Order: sequence, then structure tokens, then C-alpha cells
Amino acid sequence: MGMFNKKLGVDLGTANTLVYFPGKGVILNEPSVVAIATGTREVLAVGDEAKIMIGRTPENIIAHRPMKDGVIADYRVTEAMLRYFINKSLGNWRLFKPEIMISAPAGVTSTERRAVVEAALRAGAKQAYVIKEPILAAIGAGLHIYEAHGSMVVDIGGGTTDSAVISLGGIVSATSVKVAGTKIDAAIANYIKDELNLAIGDRTAEEIKIAVGSAIPVKEEMVIEIKGRDLLSGLPRIAEIKTNQVAAAIKGCLDEMMRSIKSTLQNAPPELAADIMGEGIVMTGGGSLLRNIDELVYRSTGVPARIAEDALLCVAKGTGTALEHLDTYKKSILVKR
Ligand code: ADP
Ligand code: MG
Repeated sequence: MGMFNKKLGVDLGTANTLVYFPGKGVILNEPSVVAIATGTREVLAVGDEAKIMIGRTPENIIAHRPMKDGVIADYRVTEAMLRYFINKSLGNWRLFKPEIMISAPAGVTSTERRAVVEAALRAGAKQAYVIKEPILAAIGAGLHIYEAHGSMVVDIGGGTTDSAVISLGGIVSATSVKVAGTKIDAAIANYIKDELNLAIGDRTAEEIKIAVGSAIPVKEEMVIEIKGRDLLSGLPRIAEIKTNQVAAAIKGCLDEMMRSIKSTLQNAPPELAADIMGEGIVMTGGGSLLRNIDELVYRSTGVPARIAEDALLCVAKGTGTALEHLDTYKKSILVKR
């Protein structure tokens, strides 16, 4: 890490936290999970280490996702997580205090945003800035956000689906709904329980989604073999799951997500809506990688949608770009310390 370039961008996601080092790229990518001792409330592990504990933890350890719903439920835990990620990213360069750009979910309040900045400073930042996540997603997706021209981004993460219409560097219309990757996984697990009498874990549900899932039914289905526990016998059993079963299982979640995307468009001024119609909707976040979700967005809104390049990294890249061009993007900075 260069001595004079001590800048870090942090995408504090509901599912994953990414740290971006300008000029180098993503240098850390770990789940936004903290393991805590139930009695003493001591932080035992963060990130990859903590995620391994989920589902396997003894009763006196709980795995906590502090950003789960796109709000900061527990400042202390969020701060511990942020500090851990920052220190891990800095490694031997810990002596040099970095400037840190943080993306917080669009739904967090100004108090929460200030808390994030304070946490970054306590974690060793020389200066800390927060920019709203949809703006960073748009920057990371390569959109020219300061033009007098409407653009629309939809970010589907683990906990929330956020859509925003952006013009002249500001958010003109936005909606956030607490339905995204994690609820989709739960819907798959529920469907398999109800239809096949089989209990599966969240991780298996996510594997099914990624391997064969689709946002709309398809003609040529894919199939995956999974292991679960038979609800009647209590014994392990193998079953096959096909694409259109997944599509049926997750339809309710997707309907809710599409309603929220539509309301962002409906609340945008007509001129900007016309721009978006021409330019299309740009999709970011891991949830955008679900097969055919761009087609579903198109069918639901009538506006063509495309998945951004490196959809999972757009927000992190956006933090890096904003840091490297602070002057250009300073109008979008919400909190600065
Ligand atoms: P966040 O920003 O909220 O931390 P991410 O943008 O990292 O979330 O996305 C995480 C979500 O993306 C998870 O729910 C994960 O299951 C989902 N995901 C990742 N890859 C795929 C894929 N190929 N297909 C469908 N969903 C995916
Ligand atoms: Mg995200």
C-alpha cells in the first residue's frame, strides 16, 4: 500500500462488506457478520470467521448481522465490525491514518450515518465521508450522475432492494424495501418444506437459487440435487429441484420488489422518466445476478433493464472513484468529519 495514498472505500452491505483500495481494487470481501457471546456480549469473531459459526454455534454464541435490514440496529456491533475490517485492510500500514469513504444503505437515518462516521474515526480514519449507496452504485456502474439527465439504478443486495432515480448528482426519487436475496432464500426453503416435506438450511437454499434459480419460468429448466432432512422420518433425504419450482417459490418476493421499483419510477418527474425510458435501468448488487431478473424488471415496468458490469462490486468501486475524485463528487457527500 502506497505511503501517500491512504484511502479506503468501504461498502457496508447487508450481506457483505467490501473494502476498496483505489488503484488496486477490492482488497477485502467478507460477510457482514459478527459473532457475539450471549452472556458477556463480547465480540468473538467478525466476517468469514463469524459466518462459519452460523448454524453451528453453541448456545452461548450468537451470530449477528448488524446491517441486516439496511438500518444500524446495534451501533456497538457495527463499530466493532467496521474497525475489524479497516484494521485488516490496513495490515502493516496501520500507522498511516486513511481517508475513508463509506457507503451506508440508503435507508439509514442521518443519526445512523453520523454514527458510521464516528465509528470510522474511532477505528482509525483520519477523515471519513458517507455518500448514499445508490449514488455510489451509479458511480461504480459508470453512470454520469452529474448530468441534467435522469438515470435509474436498482441495487438488490442481501437485505434490501433499493431503487433510485438520480439527476444532477442527487436522488430525485427512491424506494427501499426489505425484500432481497435473504428473503428469496427463505422463500425457497419454505417452498421445499411445504411441497417436498424436506427441511433445508439457508445456505442450501442460496445454493439452489444461484445454481438453478430464475426470476421468471423458463422453457429449458435446470436441475440440482440437494440434501435435506425429511420432515416425516427425520432422516436425510436427497431431492431434485428444478428452475420453475424456484421461480414459483420466489414469485411473492419478486412481486414485492417489482412494486417498489415501479413506485420509484412513478414518483419521478415526467422528464426524467422519459430519460430513463431511453437509457434503461441499470441493476447492481448480488441479487441482480439472479437469472432473468432484468427481463422481469422490463416486463414489470416497460423499461429495458441491464445488469452492470461487476454488479457485486459497483458500490465498492463507486467508493473508490468518489475518493479519487473527491472534488468532483463532493456535492454528494452527506457527512464528513
Ligand atoms: P449487500 O450489498 O446487501 O451486502 P450483495 O450485493 O453483496 O448484498 O448481494 C448479496 C446477495 O446476492 C445474497 O443474497 C446472495 O445470495 C445474492 N447473490 C449472489 N450471487 C448471486 C447469483 N449468481 N444469483 C442470485 N443471487 C446471487
Ligand atoms: Mg450492497
